[in-house]
Amino acid sequence: MQVAVVGGSLGGLTAGLLLRDMGISVDIYERSPVELAQRGAGIGFLPESQRYLVERAGVSLDKISIATSHIRYLNRNAQMVYDGLHQYRFSSWTTIYRELLACVEPAIYHLDHEMIDWIDDADCVNVRFANGTTRQADLLICADGVGSTARARLLPNVQPQYAGYVCWRGMVPEQAVDAKTRSVFDDAITYYVYANSHALVYPIPGPDGSVKKGERLFNLVWYRNYLEGSDLDDLMTDNTGQLREISLPPGSVSERHAAELRTVAAARLPEPMADLVSKLEQPFLQVIYDIDIPRMAFGRVCLVGDAAFVARPHAAAGTAKAAADGWALAQALSEEKDVVAALKQWEAGQLSLGRQLLERTRSIGRRSQVDCNWVAGDPELILGLHGPGV
Ligand SMILES: Cc1cc2nc3c(=O)[nH]c(=O)nc-3n(C[C@H](O)[C@H](O)[C@H](O)COP(=O)(O)OP(=O)(O)OC[C@H]3O[C@@H](n4cnc5c(N)ncnc54)[C@H](O)[C@@H]3O)c2cc1C
Repeated sequence: MQVAVVGGSLGGLTAGLLLRDMGISVDIYERSPVELAQRGAGIGFLPESQRYLVERAGVSLDKISIATSHIRYLNRNAQMVYDGLHQYRFSSWTTIYRELLACVEPAIYHLDHEMIDWIDDADCVNVRFANGTTRQADLLICADGVGSTARARLLPNVQPQYAGYVCWRGMVPEQAVDAKTRSVFDDAITYYVYANSHALVYPIPGPDGSVKKGERLFNLVWYRNYLEGSDLDDLMTDNTGQLREISLPPGSVSERHAAELRTVAAARLPEPMADLVSKLEQPFLQVIYDIDIPRMAFGRVCLVGDAAFVARPHAAAGTAKAAADGWALAQALSEEKDVVAALKQWEAGQLSLGRQLLERTRSIGRRSQVDCNWVAGDPELILGLHGPGV
């Protein structure tokens, strides 16, 4: 069997590696001309995202992630109003990407291959790339992310739904903050919840992947509401005057909005969090969308990861869902040799997984950003792909 995977990020890499391990001939096509750079910053590192690296690559979790033991909530005065024991692991997008990429033979990972189209015959799929090359495959796996070209073609009526808020993000080296701030954020995920907003902080590996204390980063995530239309458009107009849709990468936020972020942080966030915001050299942001889809399998073509459902980040489960799609696909193909039949069998479970995550994260987001009824330490808010803590 020949498989083409489009999208060389965490979802595409995991699916590609799992099928390669089954002896299937796999090629992974990524539109970026260079290896992917740091995106998404910190990630809650859930078991499904760890699974390939632990089970197949023998990587030690302690080398690529940080284990924390507390969930903490601060109040406006930076007093700890909740401190519960709960173990999480946190890592960074770059660390996980590097580790997965190291498992792939360079000859099957093709940069600068942007898929522009495909023809789906009864017997095979012919994929076309912007660089003029083509590829014939028995199965096309589309892992092309939130702005998926494949989803737009297969499900033209599905549109991203703006959640009403964006997520400001940034990382600060541990060394840049004083011992008092360090002690608040060390060994914990720390939340502050206030009117129609919440912020959280957790430690992640340093830029070079170091997990040693003193060399790590504090990852800040702050959800803030912006009205759709001119309010959001003003925010999303970058420092060159260009209106962007999904995200503003580091270095592109307008000076006016970066300054507003620092001012509001100083006025509204507990001092240790405001301190982090004041030290963010290049805050960046992602607009929060929901994408709900009715199908994931289309003959010999399927959608995985963010190319399929996009759920809000409140369960920290986006990469875990992408990985779970890949594991389930490998299982389905090992049980059923007919690709079309295997995809059909696979689809039912993944639709149900994606939909439950979407609904749960919508509800969490509404409680924080609209209803304002988050309670410190609420067990419903525990991170997890299948449900709180699982
Ligand atoms: C604010 C925020 C916080 C998050 N926090 C977490 C967290 O804590 N834990 C977690 O697990 N997840 C988190 N996520 C989600 C996570 O980042 C995504 O779910 C995950 O990256 C999805 O992986 P993917 O491979 O499906 O898509 P992506 O990572 O988006 O990759 C898609 C790839 O496809 C490529 N591509 C696109 N179009 C084409 C084309 N036509 N041809 C070829 N290549 C193409 C792109 O260049 C890209 O490399 C968060 C997301 C956000 C927005």
